[in-house]
Amino acid sequence: MDKADIGAVFGNESHNESHIESQYEYHIQTVTGRIRPDQLGYCQSHEHLFIADGRSAKLVPSLRLDDFDATCSELELYKSIGGKSIVDAQPAGCGRMADLQSKASIKTGVNIIASTGFHKLVFYPEDHWIRNMDEDSLAALFIDELEYGMFIDCDASKPVRRIGSKAGVIKTASDSEGPSGDYRRLFSAAAEASVRSGVPILSHTEMGMGALEQIKLFTDHGVPASSIIICHLDRVLKDAGYLMEVASTGVFLELDTIGRFKYHSDDDEVAFIISLLENGFEDRILLGLDTTRERMKSYGGSIGLDYLHETFFPLLRSYGVNDSHIYKFTVSNPAKAFIRMSPVLTS
Ligand SMILES: [Zn+2]
Repeated sequence: MDKADIGAVFGNESHNESHIESQYEYHIQTVTGRIRPDQLGYCQSHEHLFIADGRSAKLVPSLRLDDFDATCSELELYKSIGGKSIVDAQPAGCGRMADLQSKASIKTGVNIIASTGFHKLVFYPEDHWIRNMDEDSLAALFIDELEYGMFIDCDASKPVRRIGSKAGVIKTASDSEGPSGDYRRLFSAAAEASVRSGVPILSHTEMGMGALEQIKLFTDHGVPASSIIICHLDRVLKDAGYLMEVASTGVFLELDTIGRFKYHSDDDEVAFIISLLENGFEDRILLGLDTTRERMKSYGGSIGLDYLHETFFPLLRSYGVNDSHIYKFTVSNPAKAFIRMSPVLTS
């Protein structure tokens, strides 16, 4: 059974678990525990709630998001527009602050899906453990974070201290050429972890480039396309043929270049979404804002986690995209994309 079938189960309005095959259980892992897919609710699929003051912030100061109260007040804003769940795309050893993710979720009641996995190598110092760990050990580490809990204090030193909060997705990231060079070791480890755990992959592309190469590597390892979420595909909208080719592979398409006018206007974003709808990809689209300090209102930024609801959805509607589409992008598609297909170990 793949996720298309699960989608049929979820989409038929009956969430009776008797419809689900007995040898599998399906759930979404949040930092405070497992939830059923129908409990996910409104979910933005790629945000950043916390990033410690470290390597990332030194390279890009707007990536520092380390104020617990500010992030909680942004989550309260998110809750006020109906936000129930949110994906934090910051992976292991890279300023993730998993302990604060967990505390913020408990304080605000917003479900947070956290990431294991890795980011672009530029975000790790030359002597960082993630650059030297072999493929099998990396896969084991990612599975550890999914099964037993995430490591903290591992930005500068090896992962030792762990908390009970588990990651719910495997983040991967490559440069524009895709998973070549040293990235092959990292991508192969992530693919292995996904195949063994049934947990989906959330993959950063550089301006949408390298997506086909990433997808090929994952599927060659046995990861189903329905367990792959490709990020930032909408950052550059010039090559429609390429974008549709990526969409045609069956992966989920995470669109987050919204309210980012240095790349393109929101009208251009709407035109892209409409072209995806015209080509039959309405069940593949996920939305997010890929938040930084410059975009979170509570950090003094420009748009806030309520931007989709307050500004972008009215624009979508004005172009004729209806609420049932918006529901898919923010509720039913994420509920399929972030499902863990977990083999039940006891019979
Ligand atoms: Zn991101």
